Amino acid sequence: MRDACATPGLLSLEDALIKILDALPDAERYEQVSLRQSLGRVLSTNIHSAINVPSFRNSYMDGYALHSDDQDKASLTLIGTSWAGKPYTGKVARGECVRIFTGAYVPDCCDCVAMQENVQRENDYIKITPWPVHHENIRDTADDTAEGQELLAQGTLLGAAEIGLLASCAIVDVSVFQRLTVGFFSTGDELVSMGSKLELGQIYDSNRYTLHALLTEAGITAIDMGVIPDTPEDVENALLSASKHCDAIITSGGVSVGEADFITDVLGKIGRINFWKIAIKPGKPFVFGSVGNALFFGLPGNPVSVAISFQQLLLPAFKKLMGHKKEHSPLTLQATVSQTIYKQPGRTEFQRGIAENINGTLVVNSTGNQGSHVLSSMTKANCLIILEQGSGDIEKGQTVNIQLLGNSL
Ligand code: AMP
Ligand code: MG
Repeated sequence: MRDACATPGLLSLEDALIKILDALPDAERYEQVSLRQSLGRVLSTNIHSAINVPSFRNSYMDGYALHSDDQDKASLTLIGTSWAGKPYTGKVARGECVRIFTGAYVPDCCDCVAMQENVQRENDYIKITPWPVHHENIRDTADDTAEGQELLAQGTLLGAAEIGLLASCAIVDVSVFQRLTVGFFSTGDELVSMGSKLELGQIYDSNRYTLHALLTEAGITAIDMGVIPDTPEDVENALLSASKHCDAIITSGGVSVGEADFITDVLGKIGRINFWKIAIKPGKPFVFGSVGNALFFGLPGNPVSVAISFQQLLLPAFKKLMGHKKEHSPLTLQATVSQTIYKQPGRTEFQRGIAENINGTLVVNSTGNQGSHVLSSMTKANCLIILEQGSGDIEKGQTVNIQLLGNSL
């Protein structure tokens, strides 16, 4: 049986993503921020190192710095100590050695460090077994990064590793693309905010919380614009006001074909509809367009559809707008299905799954009820099972593609 919601000619997920990305401008606006403030920001320039790291030859181990071709000597004479931060700068003649600690300067004339576990010391004399080879336990100048070398390229997302690397080269502040400002609101007369008691037919608005979290995780300034009643006038006013101060607007609900679904009508009147509806499940009634200078993403109301369409379509769009260099292509893994997964051909489907490593094989099972209202399925899942548009049921033992879900979607 074919998927009843897969009307012919629906835009595929891939084509929808291409249409969105093609319509977006490249990131241009940038600002200077201090290194500590740069977490989660995207570099707007390439960054080069002005120094070598490390800037001097130093020891990998606690031990003794010496000449590797002194092996014929019965013992070596200890003549000083090179501490981390307090280098030994004197000469070290043949037959001599210096005590040295990890990270300490290796005197120029020494060519190796014997680790202390291999050394027997008596007063100021040492014997070593086994004898170290040339260059053993030495970290060379510029082992990590060389002066003039490109450290990070424009478009790099700054995380802890990148910030640490920049700090090691004393880069005090960086030029990053400006944050995006995204306004979002929910539509639906059934929606009630927390704190009020539910009357018959009402539900709590969860989408605004999900969207706030997703946007914040993506490093975007998220502006919660509340709940808008299901009337064309209210929707129009909200869109016009959001378009004045947001780079993009997200709505949830009201994009379907029901009598209370006004988003597309209003968008057609005051803005531009680029496309409406795509062949994905959940998330079919998705609309992309613009109002004034703001991009517009109209998501369906069902909470799982919101999460999936954000991950598959909005996140790549926002990454492009924020200047990310890397294409948004979540890593796809192959997993073996442990129980039949039911699917009707017609739409690309994202089922919530639980993947496990069973004796070295990646095995996946669905979380159970896949209704797009079942938000608890998102919290049980550690992956999304991606079922291709044309595929039907997947039998136990067949392989499917999965995308792992981390902290963020
Ligand atoms: P709609 O897309 O407006 O037809 O809504 C589809 C389903 O999602 C309905 O069951 C709504 O009650 C539900 N829904 C809409 N908006 C929200 C929201 N903000 N939070 C939770 N559920 C919602
Ligand atoms: Mg609605």
